[in-house]
Amino acid sequence: MNRFISALLLLVIPIVSLALDDGPRPGYRDTPIIPGQKWKVHDSERPYPVVVDPGAGIFSNSRPDDAVVLLDASAELSAWSSGGKEPRWGVVDGTMEARPGSGDISTRDSFGDIQLHLEFRTPPEVKGNSQGRGNSGVFLMERYEIQVLDSYQNPTYPDGQCAAFYGQWPPLVNACRGPGQWQSYDIIFKAPRFSADGSLLAAARATVIHNGVMVHHDREFLGPTSHRRKPSYSKHAPLGKIKLQDHGNPIRYRNIWLRNLPDETESDSR
Ligand code: MG
Repeated sequence: MNRFISALLLLVIPIVSLALDDGPRPGYRDTPIIPGQKWKVHDSERPYPVVVDPGAGIFSNSRPDDAVVLLDASAELSAWSSGGKEPRWGVVDGTMEARPGSGDISTRDSFGDIQLHLEFRTPPEVKGNSQGRGNSGVFLMERYEIQVLDSYQNPTYPDGQCAAFYGQWPPLVNACRGPGQWQSYDIIFKAPRFSADGSLLAAARATVIHNGVMVHHDREFLGPTSHRRKPSYSKHAPLGKIKLQDHGNPIRYRNIWLRNLPDETESDSR
């Protein structure tokens, strides 16, 4: 590279970086305060989490031998359904792909407390911005969303960025890889507990590790995921399906497995 181009880049790069931080911030200011926090739901003024480079990472199709396999390299979709019928998502290169307009996809089986591993890839071709770019989501018990989004140099409201508890908690840091790169979630999820009369005994909780970086540590869900509204609990079954969201973007998933965890609220016989 000649000296002139180097000098030009030195000038241009900070301007481009500045431009990324400039302009109106996506989000809302007319939404309710999130209970127990000082921020509003989808607050555009909430600080952006610090960006962390997660490194290259290592993926494989290995898993613990007590894992329930939901998707392996054969990309056989028998664990999944679209509204109880055959899954409408596609299979591409040994991965499962959301076909825009095909609707969400759910596991056929239901689960309670789990350790869940999955890998996802937002589209290599960058289209759209904010919530319109690489949007999907992992809904635990079909209610509690860990957001999937291309949040690599794509500002959006922090409680809606990749790895957020959507509408509730931003991730501790932004550990996203770029568009078209495979990323991983390891989620330790504890289902909520309700009393017989329907009142909440214990909120749902999750620890989330994104690309090997912890982004939530035993964090409480404030209720099922909602858009622009305050979350609130109502009693539901102790087991629920895992749902992956079709938000109109061709997101791919691979290597999905979980382990059922013991119910530690029951008497411990060990
Ligand atoms: Mg989503």
